[in-house]
Amino acid sequence: MTQLAGKVAIITGASSGIGQAAARLFARQGARLVLVARREAALAELAAEISAAGSEAALVPGDVAEEATAAAAVKMAVERFGGLDIAFNNAGTMGESAPLTGLSVENWRYVLDVNLTSAFLAARYQVQAMLERGGGSLIFTSSFVGHTVGFPGMAAYAASKAGLGGLVQVIAAEYGPHNIRANALLPGGTDTPMGRAAAATPEARQYVEGLHALKRLAEPMEIAQAALYLASDGASFVTGTSLLVDGGVSISRG
Ligand code: NAP
Repeated sequence: MTQLAGKVAIITGASSGIGQAAARLFARQGARLVLVARREAALAELAAEISAAGSEAALVPGDVAEEATAAAAVKMAVERFGGLDIAFNNAGTMGESAPLTGLSVENWRYVLDVNLTSAFLAARYQVQAMLERGGGSLIFTSSFVGHTVGFPGMAAYAASKAGLGGLVQVIAAEYGPHNIRANALLPGGTDTPMGRAAAATPEARQYVEGLHALKRLAEPMEIAQAALYLASDGASFVTGTSLLVDGGVSISRG
């Protein structure tokens, strides 16, 4: 079964972790892909793997905080593949971890730029292409942090991720009449370079795993499966929402 046959998808943060898993999954499901991240070599390796498996992926190396990257990704989707159906805006950064009074303004601005302003910039170009296509699905990777949990030290990260929840509500309301859906995907702790950096010692990892009802971190592919759902026609009536895929970290107290 190919859930994304004939679809064209942009995936940001495709050089690692959740984005890389989503690229593999979306390609297997029949989508043609535009892969975005700063590390070109990692994107090229993934694109080669995808084309060896019989699908197609184009690269747009760049910083998602730059408007030029957002424009180039959509241009690539339209010129190379004929349009855009799906955008998985997933790239993100944790930034520095420090209590509020120790958090630099530079770090605040950096995290907001990469995690939130990037989403606004991307969506402006992506929505335009989806209007021309007659519909589409936008997905933004947010987090349980800033939604149900206030982790100390993560003010900028939490604020940026919470902002995505507001952004998707407005995009959904503005463009629902044009068959464009917008949703936030909120992973729990996930076993990626970012997730491992946040729980860098065996003790820290055990602690973070224990916060989840399932007592473990997610595999990146488990989060990618939820992105596939939001991207697919299976979620045709799902818009403007924040979908927790968090192993129960939001409800667990034991
Ligand atoms: P990851 O393996 O470290 O991947 C992060 C990705 O984002 C990389 O592909 C990185 O690519 C890209 N990226 C970062 N800054 C960028 C920038 N300025 N421009 C372009 N690309 C940039 O981490 P991950 O866990 O898969 O993270 C994916 C998303 O999930 C993030 O939004 C993160 O906040 C969110 N999330 C993660 C967890 C977790 O526990 N892992 C939990 C909740 C939410 P380059 O370095 O090549 O640019």
